[in-house]
Amino acid sequence: MTKQNNDCDSCAQKGSCKDENNGQECTHKVFRMSKIKHKIIIASGKGGVGKSTVSVNLARALQLKGMRVGILDADITGPDIPKLLGIEEAKLMQGPEGIEPAKADGIKAASMALILTSRDSPVVWRGPMKMAAIKQFIQDVNWGDLDFLLIDLPPGTSDEPLSVVQLIPELAGAIIVTTPQEVALLDSRKAVNMIRAMKLPVLGIVENMSGLVCPHCGDGISIFGAGGGQRMAEEMDVTFLGSIPIDPSVCALGDSGLTFVQSETLAGGSFNKIVERLLQMFN
Ligand code: ADP
Repeated sequence: MTKQNNDCDSCAQKGSCKDENNGQECTHKVFRMSKIKHKIIIASGKGGVGKSTVSVNLARALQLKGMRVGILDADITGPDIPKLLGIEEAKLMQGPEGIEPAKADGIKAASMALILTSRDSPVVWRGPMKMAAIKQFIQDVNWGDLDFLLIDLPPGTSDEPLSVVQLIPELAGAIIVTTPQEVALLDSRKAVNMIRAMKLPVLGIVENMSGLVCPHCGDGISIFGAGGGQRMAEEMDVTFLGSIPIDPSVCALGDSGLTFVQSETLAGGSFNKIVERLLQMFN
């Protein structure tokens, strides 16, 4: 692969790189990404289905198993990963080896929210500027040696998630997060087809907000329905990784910057089964 001029134009090393615009392979990009064993995309057909919650809890589950993990928050306009990791006050800093990622109890993270001065300011950047920011997270963040880098994609199937996927070399594949409602499933099918159109494996489907266990009587209540994610996975010949129930503690822990995967909850138990199924693919 030869280096594109526009890659150089958006690179933080512009002006000081010996390979700049010489048609050679980009050493920044290749070197940094080659130290990461598995790069997984977390995608969804629409927003609000729990994609970032799944990303953060998957990262924590892998880190608790002794793996080296990073999260790249590629959702430039809605960067929620720092909030969910409890590192809202952190900032990305330039170090001798590149931009140093923030750390949340052992998980490395890069996000627009770690650059913005006010967390309430909207990011009103146009497409090319957003892509330049993502390129910097890929090329210039000093991720170091990682077992897994999880990339939290912008929601939907517009050109924005598509462009992000095209920027990242040697992806292992994508996990699609959905909820059980027909409208969410419809959009998730499009997400599966988007990943396939880019010749990437769909590692599996996760159905989130799959029913609620009543805290009073213990009966299941299907608020949004349940089982649609599994049916959709079968129809589309994709692995069904598992489901996560609606659980008020998932939301409360997330709001406090904590993960639920290690909690003694139904959601925690369900999530651990999903992680086991996923890890079988990487053994
Ligand atoms: P997305 O990244 O798809 O936009 P988020 O991960 O930000 O979605 O989740 C949206 C909201 O739903 C958050 O407040 C989160 O805490 C909550 N949430 C996600 N999954 C669950 C669940 N299983 N039970 C209860 N609340 C959940």
